[in-house]
Amino acid sequence: MATATAVYKEPAPKLDRENPLESMMSRFDSAADILGLDDETYEVLKAADKQVIVHIPVTMDNGKVRVFEGYRVIHNTILGPSKGGIRYDQHVHLDEVKALAAWMTWKCAVVDIPYGGAKGGIICNPLEMSAGEVERLTRAYTVALKDVFGPDRDIPAPDMGTGPREMAWLMDEFSKTVGMTSPAVVTGKPLVMGGSLGRTEATGRGVMTSTLAALAKLNMQPENTSVAVQGFGNVGSWAAKLLFDKGLKIKAVSDISGAYWNADGINIDEALAYKNAHNGRLEGFSGATLMPDPSELLICDVDVLVPAAVEDVITEHNAADIKAKLIVEGANGPTSASADPIINDKGILVVPDILANSGGVTVSYFEWVQNKQGFKWSLDMVTERADRIMTDAFNKVYDTSQKYKIPMRIAAYVVAIDKVAQTYKYRGGF
Ligand code: GLU
Repeated sequence: MATATAVYKEPAPKLDRENPLESMMSRFDSAADILGLDDETYEVLKAADKQVIVHIPVTMDNGKVRVFEGYRVIHNTILGPSKGGIRYDQHVHLDEVKALAAWMTWKCAVVDIPYGGAKGGIICNPLEMSAGEVERLTRAYTVALKDVFGPDRDIPAPDMGTGPREMAWLMDEFSKTVGMTSPAVVTGKPLVMGGSLGRTEATGRGVMTSTLAALAKLNMQPENTSVAVQGFGNVGSWAAKLLFDKGLKIKAVSDISGAYWNADGINIDEALAYKNAHNGRLEGFSGATLMPDPSELLICDVDVLVPAAVEDVITEHNAADIKAKLIVEGANGPTSASADPIINDKGILVVPDILANSGGVTVSYFEWVQNKQGFKWSLDMVTERADRIMTDAFNKVYDTSQKYKIPMRIAAYVVAIDKVAQTYKYRGGF
């Protein structure tokens, strides 16, 4: 249904710090123009199908009850049950969750897996809460959303601030409410209770395969390529480790304690060992020097920049100073829409978030399939299938960008929206 007639319009630059929903919508609008998307489908896809706001009372360790605000946004389910992580963070905001939910719809469509998009979040600071408090919060959130979640309805997963531990509590609580063990209600579970081999490293692995695919298009050799990775959590640390293993030189990494630089390359095995031995932080790591300002990582002298932390770190204020030739977005929404024209003018190739970080949800899909099959796949089977899906998606987006002469970011939206819109055409029913 795509027509090649429409002209690509750059999203209008904005002066204020954008909210992620606006950034998402301006790219969506550009892609909808290129596709010649009809008004009805545009209106349907613009709005989330469902937004649930819950207030969750939790007894804290001091005996006092605190009420937390939580969200679950279901953006769209035309391709299948909705899928997406749950974020625990002080800065969770409904507009952010709405954008993240829509990104999940596009992400699942880009990699061609049979899911819609959703996202959840709770305004909280898990770093300042005990394990018991986080457990009570997770269980209460699950009960509050028991009619939303379901193995064939809406399937949560980890995101910032959550991991296998929280997914285990969610699975247990949901199973109790439905009266049977229901592993397929959530992905990213611990291995012993139906988690998939390869899920932990899946997002970072997808970042690695996307980086190598992009380097090949740029005729750059991995062994002559330097990288800066922002964020050393699950996505950033695995991306850094797997790129390091492929022979790329990781010159800079950062975490909450600061940004670290080594012109000769950081030994990522040592950095990981240090992080694991020091409360999950790089603070005091001697294999690199602390950069005076952590935001310098984004503009340091490297070939590849991997933002793998939070939204809106590449903006109109720093985009012009970026030296990398390639940006591979491990995080969701790390680039504001206002930075897009600057990056495009500089000729930087961007592998956008909805493609670059989709390895995580791809292996989540494999976990769900294994749970439904009651069967376990080998690690080789998981990685071989995930790599193939990522490579196919990369090629499809790259070819679309060449065909319409548009940046890969807009091409990824074109691929995703086209798939969703075509499904609406066949299913009908407005
Ligand atoms: N939170 C991850 C993401 O943003 C994973 C989602 C999932 O596996 O469902 O892609």
